[in-house]
Amino acid sequence: KLHNTILELKGNIRVFCRVRPLLPDDDGYNMGEVSVLQYPNSTELIGRGIELVQFQGQKHAFTFDRVFGPEVKQEDVFEEISQLIQSALDGYKVCIFAYGQTGSGKTHTMLGNPDNDDQKGVIPRSLEQIFKASQSLNDQGWRFQMQASMLEIYNETIRDLLAPNKTDATVKQFSVKHDNNGNTNVSDLTVVEVTKWKEVSLLLQRAAQSRAVGKTAMNEQSSRSHCVFTLRISGLNESTEQEVHGVLNLIDLAGSERLSRSGSSGDRLKETQAINKSLSSLGDVIVAIANKEQHVPYRNSKLTYLLQPCLGGNSKTLMFVNISPDSKSVSETLCSLRFAAKVN
Ligand code: ADP
Ligand code: MG
Repeated sequence: KLHNTILELKGNIRVFCRVRPLLPDDDGYNMGEVSVLQYPNSTELIGRGIELVQFQGQKHAFTFDRVFGPEVKQEDVFEEISQLIQSALDGYKVCIFAYGQTGSGKTHTMLGNPDNDDQKGVIPRSLEQIFKASQSLNDQGWRFQMQASMLEIYNETIRDLLAPNKTDATVKQFSVKHDNNGNTNVSDLTVVEVTKWKEVSLLLQRAAQSRAVGKTAMNEQSSRSHCVFTLRISGLNESTEQEVHGVLNLIDLAGSERLSRSGSSGDRLKETQAINKSLSSLGDVIVAIANKEQHVPYRNSKLTYLLQPCLGGNSKTLMFVNISPDSKSVSETLCSLRFAAKVN
Protein backbone atom coordinates (compact mmCIF):
# COMPACT_ATOMS: atom_id res chain seq x y z
CA LYS A 1 0.00 0.00 0.00
CA LEU A 2 1.13 3.50 -0.84
CA HIS A 3 -0.85 5.10 1.97
CA ASN A 4 0.61 7.63 4.35
CA THR A 5 3.93 8.05 2.69
CA ILE A 6 3.13 11.47 1.27
CA LEU A 7 5.31 13.46 3.65
CA GLU A 8 8.30 11.37 2.73
CA LEU A 9 8.04 12.28 -0.92
CA LYS A 10 10.79 14.47 -2.22
CA GLY A 11 10.24 18.23 -2.17
CA ASN A 12 7.17 20.22 -1.28
CA ILE A 13 5.34 19.94 -4.59
CA ARG A 14 3.38 16.86 -5.51
CA VAL A 15 1.29 16.00 -8.52
CA PHE A 16 -1.55 13.50 -8.42
CA CYS A 17 -3.27 12.48 -11.64
CA ARG A 18 -6.90 11.33 -11.51
CA VAL A 19 -8.78 9.76 -14.40
CA ARG A 20 -12.57 10.10 -14.19
CA PRO A 21 -14.87 7.23 -15.23
CA LEU A 22 -16.44 7.10 -18.69
CA LEU A 23 -19.65 9.13 -19.01
CA PRO A 24 -22.52 8.41 -21.44
CA ASP A 25 -21.27 10.94 -24.04
CA ASP A 26 -17.74 9.52 -24.09
CA ASP A 27 -16.43 7.22 -26.79
CA GLY A 28 -16.39 3.66 -25.54
CA TYR A 29 -19.06 4.18 -22.87
CA ASN A 30 -21.27 1.37 -24.14
CA MET A 31 -18.40 -1.07 -24.21
CA GLY A 32 -17.08 0.24 -20.93
CA GLU A 33 -13.67 0.48 -22.52
CA VAL A 34 -11.14 3.27 -22.51
CA SER A 35 -9.03 3.07 -25.63
CA VAL A 36 -6.72 6.04 -25.35
CA LEU A 37 -5.24 5.70 -21.87
CA GLN A 38 -3.45 3.09 -19.87
CA TYR A 39 -3.51 3.58 -16.12
CA PRO A 40 -3.47 1.47 -12.99
CA ASN A 41 -6.13 -1.20 -13.51
CA SER A 42 -8.60 -2.75 -11.13
CA THR A 43 -6.12 -4.96 -9.30
CA GLU A 44 -3.84 -2.01 -8.61
CA LEU A 45 -6.15 0.99 -8.41
CA ILE A 46 -3.54 3.50 -7.36
CA GLY A 47 -0.20 3.61 -9.13
CA ARG A 48 2.28 6.09 -10.52
CA GLY A 49 2.35 5.65 -14.28
CA ILE A 50 -0.07 6.70 -17.01
CA GLU A 51 0.23 6.32 -20.77
CA LEU A 52 -1.53 8.02 -23.62
CA VAL A 53 -1.66 5.28 -26.19
CA GLN A 54 -0.89 5.96 -29.82
CA PHE A 55 -1.66 9.63 -30.19
CA GLN A 56 -0.55 10.89 -33.60
CA GLY A 57 1.46 7.72 -34.04
CA GLN A 58 3.27 8.08 -30.74
CA LYS A 59 2.95 6.76 -27.25
CA HIS A 60 3.28 9.25 -24.37
CA ALA A 61 4.21 7.96 -20.94
CA PHE A 62 4.14 9.99 -17.70
CA THR A 63 4.93 9.34 -14.08
CA PHE A 64 3.42 11.25 -11.17
CA ASP A 65 3.43 10.98 -7.39
CA ARG A 66 0.13 9.15 -7.72
CA VAL A 67 -2.16 8.10 -10.53
CA PHE A 68 -5.76 7.31 -9.56
CA GLY A 69 -7.73 5.16 -11.97
CA PRO A 70 -11.46 5.79 -12.58
CA GLU A 71 -12.58 3.36 -9.90
CA VAL A 72 -10.75 5.05 -7.05
CA LYS A 73 -13.26 6.41 -4.56
CA GLN A 74 -13.35 9.87 -3.00
CA GLU A 75 -12.48 8.33 0.35
CA ASP A 76 -9.38 6.61 -1.04
CA VAL A 77 -8.22 9.79 -2.75
CA PHE A 78 -8.60 11.63 0.54
CA GLU A 79 -6.63 9.01 2.42
CA GLU A 80 -3.65 9.93 0.25
CA ILE A 81 -3.84 13.61 1.22
CA SER A 82 -5.04 13.49 4.82
CA GLN A 83 -1.54 13.97 6.25
CA LEU A 84 -1.05 17.00 4.05
CA ILE A 85 -4.32 18.45 5.39
CA GLN A 86 -3.20 17.67 8.91
CA SER A 87 -0.03 19.69 8.41
CA ALA A 88 -2.14 22.89 8.13
CA LEU A 89 -2.98 22.33 11.82
CA ASP A 90 0.73 22.04 12.54
CA GLY A 91 1.21 25.54 11.10
CA TYR A 92 2.02 24.85 7.46
CA LYS A 93 0.61 26.76 4.52
CA VAL A 94 -1.00 24.28 2.19
CA CYS A 95 -2.35 24.74 -1.35
CA ILE A 96 -4.26 22.06 -3.21
CA PHE A 97 -5.19 22.77 -6.83
CA ALA A 98 -7.39 20.93 -9.31
CA TYR A 99 -6.22 21.43 -12.90
CA GLY A 100 -7.81 20.07 -16.06
CA GLN A 101 -10.18 20.73 -18.92
CA THR A 102 -13.86 21.39 -18.23
CA GLY A 103 -15.64 18.11 -17.52
CA SER A 104 -12.53 16.25 -16.36
CA GLY A 105 -13.59 16.01 -12.69
CA LYS A 106 -12.06 19.02 -10.90
CA THR A 107 -15.19 20.01 -9.00
CA HIS A 108 -15.97 16.37 -8.26
CA THR A 109 -12.51 16.01 -6.74
CA MET A 110 -12.52 19.26 -4.75
CA LEU A 111 -16.14 19.50 -3.68
CA GLY A 112 -18.06 16.48 -4.97
CA ASN A 113 -21.46 16.19 -3.34
CA PRO A 114 -20.80 17.61 0.13
CA ASP A 115 -23.95 16.07 1.61
CA ASN A 116 -23.26 12.53 0.46
CA ASP A 117 -20.82 10.41 2.45
CA ASP A 118 -19.48 8.52 -0.57
CA GLN A 119 -19.47 11.44 -3.00
CA LYS A 120 -18.09 14.25 -0.87
CA GLY A 121 -14.76 15.57 -2.04
CA VAL A 122 -11.60 17.15 -0.66
CA ILE A 123 -13.18 20.30 0.82
CA PRO A 124 -15.80 18.62 3.05
CA ARG A 125 -13.45 15.82 4.08
CA SER A 126 -10.64 18.24 4.91
CA LEU A 127 -12.84 20.47 7.02
CA GLU A 128 -14.33 17.54 8.90
CA GLN A 129 -10.88 16.19 9.64
CA ILE A 130 -9.53 19.57 10.75
CA PHE A 131 -12.41 20.28 13.12
CA LYS A 132 -12.21 16.79 14.58
CA ALA A 133 -8.45 16.90 15.02
CA SER A 134 -8.50 20.40 16.53
CA GLN A 135 -11.08 19.32 19.10
CA SER A 136 -9.04 16.32 20.10
CA LEU A 137 -6.11 18.66 20.77
CA ASN A 138 -8.20 20.59 23.33
CA ASP A 139 -7.14 18.08 25.99
CA GLN A 140 -3.54 19.16 25.54
CA GLY A 141 -4.40 22.83 26.08
CA TRP A 142 -4.79 23.86 22.45
CA ARG A 143 -7.45 26.39 21.46
CA PHE A 144 -8.02 26.88 17.74
CA GLN A 145 -9.69 29.64 15.77
CA MET A 146 -10.67 29.03 12.15
CA GLN A 147 -11.61 31.64 9.58
CA ALA A 148 -13.05 30.85 6.17
CA SER A 149 -13.19 32.96 3.04
CA MET A 150 -14.11 32.17 -0.51
CA LEU A 151 -13.41 34.09 -3.67
CA GLU A 152 -13.52 33.73 -7.39
CA ILE A 153 -11.04 35.14 -9.88
CA TYR A 154 -12.77 35.86 -13.16
CA ASN A 155 -11.01 37.82 -15.91
CA GLU A 156 -8.33 38.85 -13.40
CA THR A 157 -11.04 40.39 -11.18
CA ILE A 158 -11.72 39.12 -7.69
CA ARG A 159 -15.27 38.42 -6.52
CA ASP A 160 -16.04 37.87 -2.87
CA LEU A 161 -18.30 34.82 -2.83
CA LEU A 162 -19.30 35.34 0.81
CA ALA A 163 -20.25 39.00 0.49
CA PRO A 164 -23.49 39.51 2.46
CA ASN A 165 -24.84 41.67 -0.33
CA LYS A 166 -24.36 40.25 -3.79
CA THR A 167 -23.85 43.66 -5.36
CA ASP A 168 -20.82 44.09 -3.10
CA ALA A 169 -19.23 40.92 -4.40
CA THR A 170 -16.69 42.50 -6.69
CA VAL A 171 -13.63 43.44 -4.70
CA LYS A 172 -12.89 46.74 -6.37
CA GLN A 173 -9.60 47.55 -4.81
CA PHE A 174 -7.32 44.61 -5.05
CA SER A 175 -4.94 45.47 -2.31
CA VAL A 176 -3.00 42.78 -0.55
CA LYS A 177 -1.47 43.27 2.85
CA HIS A 178 0.81 40.92 4.69
CA ASP A 179 0.36 40.67 8.42
CA ASN A 180 2.99 39.54 10.94
CA ASN A 181 2.23 35.91 10.28
CA GLY A 182 2.84 36.23 6.57
CA ASN A 183 -0.87 35.95 5.84
CA THR A 184 -2.54 37.63 2.92
CA ASN A 185 -5.37 40.05 3.50
CA VAL A 186 -7.44 41.00 0.50
CA SER A 187 -9.04 44.35 1.23
CA ASP A 188 -12.75 44.13 2.06
CA LEU A 189 -12.92 40.35 1.63
CA THR A 190 -15.52 38.70 3.87
CA VAL A 191 -13.94 36.43 6.46
CA VAL A 192 -16.18 34.21 8.59
CA GLU A 193 -15.26 32.52 11.86
CA VAL A 194 -16.21 28.84 11.70
CA THR A 195 -16.33 26.16 14.39
CA LYS A 196 -17.88 23.18 12.65
CA TRP A 197 -18.42 21.63 9.25
CA LYS A 198 -22.13 22.49 9.20
CA GLU A 199 -21.25 26.20 9.24
CA VAL A 200 -18.82 25.79 6.35
CA SER A 201 -21.46 23.85 4.44
CA LEU A 202 -23.81 26.85 4.71
CA LEU A 203 -21.04 29.13 3.46
CA LEU A 204 -20.51 26.89 0.43
CA GLN A 205 -24.21 27.18 -0.35
CA ARG A 206 -24.01 30.95 -0.07
CA ALA A 207 -21.00 30.95 -2.38
CA ALA A 208 -22.77 28.79 -4.96
CA GLN A 209 -25.64 31.28 -5.05
CA SER A 210 -23.26 34.17 -5.42
CA ARG A 211 -21.50 32.47 -8.32
CA ALA A 212 -24.77 32.03 -10.16
CA VAL A 213 -25.64 35.74 -10.35
CA GLY A 214 -24.62 37.88 -13.27
CA LYS A 215 -24.32 35.03 -15.74
CA THR A 216 -27.16 32.93 -17.01
CA ALA A 217 -25.26 29.69 -17.32
CA MET A 218 -23.58 28.98 -14.02
CA ASN A 219 -21.60 26.07 -15.38
CA GLU A 220 -20.30 28.29 -18.10
CA GLN A 221 -18.97 30.87 -15.69
CA SER A 222 -17.65 28.42 -13.13
CA SER A 223 -15.57 26.76 -15.82
CA ARG A 224 -14.09 30.16 -16.72
CA SER A 225 -13.08 31.24 -13.23
CA HIS A 226 -10.78 30.07 -10.46
CA CYS A 227 -12.53 29.37 -7.17
CA VAL A 228 -10.40 29.70 -4.03
CA PHE A 229 -11.54 28.42 -0.64
CA THR A 230 -9.28 29.50 2.22
CA LEU A 231 -9.25 28.36 5.84
CA ARG A 232 -6.97 30.17 8.24
CA ILE A 233 -6.06 28.30 11.36
CA SER A 234 -4.70 29.93 14.49
CA GLY A 235 -3.84 27.79 17.48
CA LEU A 236 -2.73 28.83 20.95
CA ASN A 237 -1.67 26.40 23.63
CA GLU A 238 -2.92 27.79 26.94
CA SER A 239 -0.41 25.92 29.05
CA THR A 240 2.74 26.25 26.96
CA GLU A 241 1.83 29.51 25.19
CA GLN A 242 2.94 27.93 21.94
CA GLU A 243 1.27 29.35 18.80
CA VAL A 244 0.64 27.94 15.34
CA HIS A 245 -0.66 29.69 12.23
CA GLY A 246 -1.57 27.49 9.30
CA VAL A 247 -3.48 28.10 6.08
CA LEU A 248 -5.35 25.71 3.85
CA ASN A 249 -6.15 26.87 0.29
CA LEU A 250 -8.35 24.60 -1.82
CA ILE A 251 -8.55 25.76 -5.43
CA ASP A 252 -10.81 24.64 -8.26
CA LEU A 253 -9.06 26.14 -11.30
CA ALA A 254 -10.67 27.42 -14.49
CA GLY A 255 -10.91 24.88 -17.31
CA SER A 256 -7.56 24.49 -19.06
CA GLU A 257 -9.00 23.84 -22.54
CA ARG A 258 -7.71 25.97 -25.35
CA LEU A 259 -10.43 27.60 -27.36
CA SER A 260 -9.77 27.87 -31.05
CA ARG A 261 -8.47 31.33 -31.77
CA SER A 262 -10.78 31.87 -34.69
CA GLY A 263 -13.83 30.86 -32.67
CA SER A 264 -13.38 33.36 -29.87
CA SER A 265 -13.72 37.09 -30.02
CA GLY A 266 -14.66 39.98 -27.74
CA ASP A 267 -15.41 38.97 -24.14
CA ARG A 268 -14.73 35.34 -24.85
CA LEU A 269 -11.29 36.08 -26.21
CA LYS A 270 -10.51 38.25 -23.20
CA GLU A 271 -11.61 35.46 -20.85
CA THR A 272 -9.52 32.91 -22.68
CA GLN A 273 -6.46 35.11 -22.56
CA ALA A 274 -6.95 35.72 -18.83
CA ILE A 275 -7.25 32.00 -18.14
CA ASN A 276 -4.27 31.06 -20.30
CA LYS A 277 -2.20 33.72 -18.63
CA SER A 278 -3.06 32.74 -15.07
CA LEU A 279 -2.67 28.99 -15.63
CA SER A 280 0.66 29.43 -17.36
CA SER A 281 1.77 31.83 -14.61
CA LEU A 282 0.86 29.24 -12.03
CA GLY A 283 2.96 26.69 -13.90
CA ASP A 284 5.87 29.14 -14.14
CA VAL A 285 5.70 29.90 -10.41
CA ILE A 286 5.66 26.24 -9.43
CA VAL A 287 8.55 25.44 -11.76
CA ALA A 288 10.57 28.40 -10.43
CA ILE A 289 9.98 27.25 -6.85
CA ALA A 290 10.88 23.65 -7.66
CA ASN A 291 14.11 24.79 -9.35
CA LYS A 292 14.86 27.09 -6.41
CA GLU A 293 15.17 30.02 -8.78
CA GLN A 294 16.06 33.44 -7.41
CA HIS A 295 13.14 35.17 -9.06
CA VAL A 296 9.67 33.64 -8.76
CA PRO A 297 7.21 35.49 -11.05
CA TYR A 298 4.33 35.72 -8.55
CA ARG A 299 3.13 39.06 -9.90
CA ASN A 300 2.23 37.84 -13.37
CA SER A 301 -1.33 36.89 -12.39
CA LYS A 302 -3.88 37.63 -9.67
CA LEU A 303 -3.96 33.98 -8.68
CA THR A 304 -0.25 33.62 -8.00
CA TYR A 305 -0.07 37.09 -6.43
CA LEU A 306 -2.89 36.21 -4.05
CA LEU A 307 -1.37 32.86 -3.11
CA GLN A 308 2.22 34.10 -2.94
CA PRO A 309 2.70 33.54 0.83
CA CYS A 310 1.34 30.00 0.46
CA LEU A 311 3.52 28.98 -2.49
CA GLY A 312 7.20 28.40 -1.91
CA GLY A 313 9.10 28.74 1.36
CA ASN A 314 8.19 25.81 3.54
CA SER A 315 4.62 25.66 2.28
CA LYS A 316 3.21 22.51 0.73
CA THR A 317 1.60 22.31 -2.68
CA LEU A 318 -0.40 19.53 -4.28
CA MET A 319 -1.76 19.63 -7.82
CA PHE A 320 -4.48 17.27 -8.93
CA VAL A 321 -4.45 16.88 -12.68
CA ASN A 322 -7.87 15.66 -13.72
CA ILE A 323 -8.10 13.66 -16.93
CA SER A 324 -11.01 12.60 -19.11
CA PRO A 325 -10.86 9.08 -20.61
CA ASP A 326 -12.83 10.18 -23.68
CA SER A 327 -10.86 9.72 -26.90
CA LYS A 328 -12.41 12.96 -28.21
CA SER A 329 -10.44 14.79 -25.50
CA VAL A 330 -7.13 13.22 -26.27
CA SER A 331 -5.29 16.35 -27.37
CA GLU A 332 -6.46 18.29 -24.29
CA THR A 333 -5.47 15.31 -22.17
CA LEU A 334 -1.98 15.38 -23.61
CA CYS A 335 -1.73 19.12 -22.82
CA SER A 336 -2.83 18.52 -19.22
CA LEU A 337 -0.38 15.66 -18.75
CA ARG A 338 2.43 17.78 -20.16
CA PHE A 339 1.57 20.68 -17.87
CA ALA A 340 1.53 18.30 -14.92
CA ALA A 341 4.83 16.73 -15.92
CA LYS A 342 6.37 20.18 -16.15
CA VAL A 343 5.42 21.14 -12.59
CA ASN A 344 6.19 17.72 -11.11
P1 ADP B 1 -15.01 19.87 -13.99
O1 ADP B 1 -15.23 20.51 -12.66
O2 ADP B 1 -13.56 19.56 -14.26
O3 ADP B 1 -15.62 20.64 -15.12
P2 ADP B 1 -16.80 17.88 -12.98
O4 ADP B 1 -16.20 17.64 -11.64
O5 ADP B 1 -18.01 18.73 -13.02
O6 ADP B 1 -15.72 18.45 -13.99
O7 ADP B 1 -17.08 16.46 -13.63
C1 ADP B 1 -17.81 16.27 -14.84
C2 ADP B 1 -18.81 15.13 -14.64
O8 ADP B 1 -18.13 13.91 -14.36
C3 ADP B 1 -19.75 15.35 -13.47
O9 ADP B 1 -21.00 14.85 -13.79
C4 ADP B 1 -19.10 14.53 -12.36
O10 ADP B 1 -20.06 14.12 -11.41
C5 ADP B 1 -18.52 13.37 -13.13
N1 ADP B 1 -17.31 12.84 -12.46
C6 ADP B 1 -16.10 13.42 -12.47
N2 ADP B 1 -15.18 12.69 -11.80
C7 ADP B 1 -15.84 11.61 -11.35
C8 ADP B 1 -15.46 10.45 -10.58
N3 ADP B 1 -14.20 10.27 -10.15
N4 ADP B 1 -16.40 9.54 -10.31
C9 ADP B 1 -17.67 9.71 -10.76
N5 ADP B 1 -18.10 10.77 -11.47
C10 ADP B 1 -17.20 11.70 -11.78
MG1 MG C 1 -16.11 22.40 -12.30
